[in-house]
Amino acid sequence: MAGCGQRSEAAGKQLVPGPRADGPLVLSTWDHGLPANEKAWEVLQNGGSVLDAVEQGVMVVESDFTNRSVGLGGNPDRDGHVTLDACIQDHHGRAGAVAFVQRYEHPISIARAVMERTPHVMLVGAGRSVGRGRMASAHASLICPKVRAAWKEWLKTSDYAPVANIENHDTIGMVAMDAKGNLAGSCTTSGMAYKVHGRVGDSPIIGAGLFVDGEAGAACATGVGELVIRTAGSHTVVELMRQGMEPEEACREAVQRIRRKHKDLSKMQVGFLAIRADGAFGAYGLQQGFTFAVRTAQGNNLLQASHG
Ligand code: ASP
Repeated sequence: MAGCGQRSEAAGKQLVPGPRADGPLVLSTWDHGLPANEKAWEVLQNGGSVLDAVEQGVMVVESDFTNRSVGLGGNPDRDGHVTLDACIQDHHGRAGAVAFVQRYEHPISIARAVMERTPHVMLVGAGRSVGRGRMASAHASLICPKVRAAWKEWLKTSDYAPVANIENHDTIGMVAMDAKGNLAGSCTTSGMAYKVHGRVGDSPIIGAGLFVDGEAGAACATGVGELVIRTAGSHTVVELMRQGMEPEEACREAVQRIRRKHKDLSKMQVGFLAIRADGAFGAYGLQQGFTFAVRTAQGNNLLQASHG
């Protein structure tokens, strides 16, 4: 994994090859990626599919009610509702997504059910309609007192200034490859804290928060979703890898496109993770502080992405 997290040559020049896994590989965003990776790895080791791995891996973080940006422990919107977004995609491009889910513990499983049990790709507010997904317990469906207190405090000024990095536990996006080279990805979030009621970010949008194409690679995103949607970020990363870019360079170019289109990004974070179809992988963030977890046969490590 030498060189991971360090910048290679700029796009368009001779590229320095980045790290490459020669066996199964799981990448996840942020520090909470470590326990998620561990679960996904266990699923792969026990003969589960790569799709099972990316679903069950992120479920660990959805069930962590101390997490303020994923699952039912997440910060609410400005009206006090916790609304969840998620999506999943497999090697063949089959995809499922849900947005604006309330009171279900595992939106990622609802997204998978949309993919496997309906002829559609995306449902809004789904849960019972696809017959999958466990309703939260009464306890979990209420905003926890600490989160409510922070929201009440925020209401005093209602100053909406997304600072995606500060608490270092944003959306979990996961991309993985099994021993046969099959890819899959998942993404799940409670979205930006204190968002406008009904706001949907990039995380459930195929091509924005996640994109998987077994022929080319897989990528996922975290950070300010509006920036990612406007540039179809994860799709951009995969298409750049298809053209031969190293994963880190592809992530960097997607970040640079965001930079070129927006004036003041000083308080915003966006990060991309990518695996190319040959097992090469990389990451890049708009700002310093984007961490990602890498699980290979050599272990589970948290790395700092390059940025700029
Ligand atoms: N991308 C997520 C969203 O915009 C938030 C995040 O990753 O921090 O909803």
